Amino acid sequence: MTGIFNPNGMSWDEIDKSLSESRKGDRDWRNGRVPLYVFHADDQISEISKKAYLMFFSENSLGAHAFPSVASLEQDVIRMVAQILRGDDAVVGDMTSGGTESIFLALKTARDWARERRPGIAVPEILVPRTAHPAFNKAAHYLCMKVKRIKESADFRADVAGMEKAITRDTIMIAGSAPSYPHGVIDPIGQIAEVAEKKKLWLHVDACVGGMLAPFVKKLGYPVPDFDFSIPGVTSISVDLHKYGFSAKPASCIFFRNEDFHQYQKFTFEEWPSAPYSTQTFAGTRPSGAVASAWAVMKYLGEAGYLRIAQEIMEVRRRLMEGITGIPGLKIWGQPDLSIIGFGSETMDIHAVGDEMDMRGWFVARNIEPPALTHMLMPVHAKMIESYLSDLKAIVENAKTAGKKSDKKAMRY
Ligand SMILES: *Cc1c(COP(=O)(O)O)cnc(C)c1O
Repeated sequence: MTGIFNPNGMSWDEIDKSLSESRKGDRDWRNGRVPLYVFHADDQISEISKKAYLMFFSENSLGAHAFPSVASLEQDVIRMVAQILRGDDAVVGDMTSGGTESIFLALKTARDWARERRPGIAVPEILVPRTAHPAFNKAAHYLCMKVKRIKESADFRADVAGMEKAITRDTIMIAGSAPSYPHGVIDPIGQIAEVAEKKKLWLHVDACVGGMLAPFVKKLGYPVPDFDFSIPGVTSISVDLHKYGFSAKPASCIFFRNEDFHQYQKFTFEEWPSAPYSTQTFAGTRPSGAVASAWAVMKYLGEAGYLRIAQEIMEVRRRLMEGITGIPGLKIWGQPDLSIIGFGSETMDIHAVGDEMDMRGWFVARNIEPPALTHMLMPVHAKMIESYLSDLKAIVENAKTAGKKSDKKAMRY
């Protein structure tokens, strides 16, 4: 057999060269040309994150008895984030590999909680606004549950009355986002919580994006709707640390109001020849490096550091929004609360504009409904604003664009 697996080993020099060459076609996130995927605040934070990750490079968070340090660091992270979410001492949680796993665990735990209280539901239902992340459907698919997506209101926030109307005997959970990924608006969690309490439903808040940003933006004085444990009806919250926590990947957290809910998350198994096996998360072996990175970055930044970053992000956002609204024909959709903005046009095909931005070396993120180009802003984007806006303006002003149609192949997440 011949092919990619070489018969003999390779030297580091050769490996280094091959790896460097392999990324030649990658987009340049360091200069702010990628509007999502990479959450970079500054090089110093990245260095702290890397150093901490490498210190715990080999440990495994599955082995908490062998490595009490990693269990204790994880608990520190959980307590720090619980405090940011205004939770009391009863709030419990675990670190996971990402928002997808956090949401998976919320659904799994709610399912098993409901099984005990309301036996006889064949396929438990979850109500989410249509803007909720696909992770809800992915989890429901694995867990034999059903997601009902309810059309959002004209302001892109969850339609609470519409959601209430859709509740059936099989509904066990209702959810909202803080903020939603497509439009960056925080759903009216307080109102959803009233419905949840009235109907005795589990309320999950997906704060994967906003959990480590919204509290600081609010503290700076911006108007930010409440979404956290200060709202009594909130049962669980997902928060990604590898997004606005600026931790290394993979790092997210899932929180529960108290152990009465959390107790349904654990998986234990004893019917095998080895010792009893028990985990809180979906993953077995877990990277302790990510835990150490999250711990280190949070300790390094403290509240003052996150406030400074939040201020930088809101400043980037202000400059970008002003620039976009200053270009005739373009408009920002809705009133984004935090760092995600989407803009479109009523007079031209905005995706065709996106195709041309792409040709100029800008990685383009899009919404389909309504058609938009979207940005998830980071401090690293500060350096791109002027050149981004001047490319955008030139493309929009080119009269030909008005008649151009977009390349539908370019639309993928
Ligand atoms: C990113 C994101 C998720 C999923 O998180 P992963 O870390 O990609 O698994 C879930 N919800 C929202 C709102 C997100 O932005």
